[in-house]
Amino acid sequence: MAQASYLWNPPQPASLPVQGIAARFPVHRIFCVGRNYHAHALEMGRPVDKTAARPFYFTKSPSTLVESGATVPYPCGTSNYQFEMELVVAIGASGFRVTEKDAARLIFGYAAGLDMTRRDLQLMARDQGRPWDLGKDFEKSAVCTQIVPIGNLGVLSRGAVTLQVNGETRQTSDLSQLIWNIPELLADLSQFYHLEPGDLIYTGTPEGVGAVKPGDKITGHIDAVGDVALTIGQTE
Ligand code: MN
Repeated sequence: MAQASYLWNPPQPASLPVQGIAARFPVHRIFCVGRNYHAHALEMGRPVDKTAARPFYFTKSPSTLVESGATVPYPCGTSNYQFEMELVVAIGASGFRVTEKDAARLIFGYAAGLDMTRRDLQLMARDQGRPWDLGKDFEKSAVCTQIVPIGNLGVLSRGAVTLQVNGETRQTSDLSQLIWNIPELLADLSQFYHLEPGDLIYTGTPEGVGAVKPGDKITGHIDAVGDVALTIGQTE
C-alpha cells in the first residue's frame, strides 16, 4: 500500500515512558472518572449513593498529555486552576464488555497523574448542564508519570495517595477509598467503549482539591506506583 501523503506532518502520537522498558507507551485515549471518592463528591456538593448510581466519565484529548516534571503555564480563561491527584490505569489489551473477574488482563500498568482542572469553567458548565470540555480538556491538563508495568503489583486495591503543594500536604487518602474499584471501572467502561491498548483511565481524585498559582510546585505520591511533579509557570 502506498504511503499516505499529508498536507503537513501529522503530530507524533502522545506517549509515556515505561519503567524498565526502552519502548514508550503510545497513548490512544484518556478517560477520566468523575466523583469516585465519597469525600471528594461531598466537597463538590454531589454526594454519591453507589446503590443508585453508576460511574460517569469525561475524556481528555491525548494531545493534552504532559509528562511529570514539566512546567506548564497558568492556563488562559480561568481564575481557579486546581489540582486533582489520581491513580492512572494504563490499558494494554483489548476488552469489550469484560467482567470484573476478567478485567485484570486488560491492565498493562499504573501511573500517578494529575487531572488539572479549570474549576470555575467546569462548575459553570456543570450548573448550566453543558459539557465539561472547557474545564477539563484543555492544553497540558493531563499530567502523568512513567508507567509502571503491573508485574507483581496485581490489581491495586489499597495504597496511600497524597499530594503536596510547596511541601504542604493538601490531599491524603488511600486507593481503598475508591467508590468504584479498578475491576468495577473496567467492567463498566467497557460496556460503552471497546477498550484498546494505549487507553489511560484517570480513576478520580480524593478530597482536598484546591487552587494553585504561578510559581507553585505540586508533588504527588501513590504507593508502589510513583511520584508526579508539576510546576506552575506564569500566566500565558
Ligand atoms: Mn479528576
